[in-house]
Amino acid sequence: MNHARSHDLFSRACELLPGGVNSPVRAFKSVGGEPFFAERAEGPFLFDVDGNRYIDYVGSWGPMIAGHAHPDVLDAVATTMRNGLSFGVPNALEVTMAETLTRIVPSCEMVRMVNSGTEATLSAIRVARGATGRSRIVKFEGCYHGHGDSFLVKAGSGALTLGLPNSPGVPTALADLTLTLPYNDFEAATELFDKAGSEIAGLIIEPIVGNANCILPRDGYLQHLRELCTRHGALLIFDEVMTGFRVALGGAQERYGVKPDLSTFGKIIGGGMPVGAFGGRRDLMSQVAPSGPIYQAGTLSGNPVAMAAGLATLELVQVDGFHERLEQSTHALCDGLETAAREAGITFHTTRAPGMFGLYFREGPVHGFADAMASDAAMFGRFFQAMLERGVYLAPSAFEAGFMSSAHGEAEITATIEAARGAFAACRG
Ligand code: PMP
Repeated sequence: MNHARSHDLFSRACELLPGGVNSPVRAFKSVGGEPFFAERAEGPFLFDVDGNRYIDYVGSWGPMIAGHAHPDVLDAVATTMRNGLSFGVPNALEVTMAETLTRIVPSCEMVRMVNSGTEATLSAIRVARGATGRSRIVKFEGCYHGHGDSFLVKAGSGALTLGLPNSPGVPTALADLTLTLPYNDFEAATELFDKAGSEIAGLIIEPIVGNANCILPRDGYLQHLRELCTRHGALLIFDEVMTGFRVALGGAQERYGVKPDLSTFGKIIGGGMPVGAFGGRRDLMSQVAPSGPIYQAGTLSGNPVAMAAGLATLELVQVDGFHERLEQSTHALCDGLETAAREAGITFHTTRAPGMFGLYFREGPVHGFADAMASDAAMFGRFFQAMLERGVYLAPSAFEAGFMSSAHGEAEITATIEAARGAFAACRG
């Protein structure tokens, strides 16, 4: 594959952008090599500036659940955009979005739109702290909730990929307020709450961890956390930035039947535009400014063009059978990859939820962060490169979930498994 133009762009980018990118994992640091630069995208495909085509399993890190450049989404954006890009006064699409979100996710009785997942999570913990009058928060090893100061403690995603789980610039006094727990460990959670429960404002969790590969909750684990939070007067916050509208229409809370007090969203809710949201119980959300004293604001929040893209995408995921089909195609892909690995004599395991999956170069099962970290990252790097050469783009890190869209059909899945046969053989050496 020729990458001359991407290489040239990356050289120029490296002079002016830290690491040549505007978000760390895009730099391909953990898998080696250089990133390719996108020219356009359509359905399940990304096309780079050198004319190469890739079957894309990143989907812009989650938003493109209906495939890239879906005509309904583009039409909604084009129509809305003609009326102006931003008004600074309320617009009707914000109301439609609030009505849609609260209908799809019943635990969200009120919502506030923001511009990213990071904004959603840091606002949600402000609400938790403001409403409870407590300061401590609990998060889980390997979970990533954006780059807010309080969350860069044992964080996943790029912080993990680059080996920077605790960032310089986060004051110790603030980091000390963040307590961490091992995911899927019932006892550790009980003990922590027994010890410090009365100081905990809220517990935030990725109900399925997508930022340390892809780790599913053990049976009853999320219910256990719900009970602990209720017993100790702490708020349960589900970070559904990845899982929302993906693993079920109503997200992980619908799939696992657990009702959080607050939820955060991003990615799909903006359909590819910069959008996030947080929402939850009415008595909590009504404490947010201007109806209450907990301050939160945004110049571009509820932007009409972004709302139009998000609403059009939410229409697409509400089509009957959408998530069942997504689940089937995720299984078809993962089963095929496991078979191809077995045939090549490679130790390999997958985890799956509808529309998202984890790839592990180790034996299963995977229940916790330590299990995920035990995957052979060097082997993943070789597999990643071998797949890229064969026109398949996986997440460029051994610690990020992969994403499927409704545009990934049988032909793409078959082609991906075929590529994997060659890639597994190549990385066996
Ligand atoms: N929470 C989760 C679970 C995420 O996966 C991410 C981003 N990958 C964020 C929060 C932060 O979202 P953003 O990058 O839009 O700020």
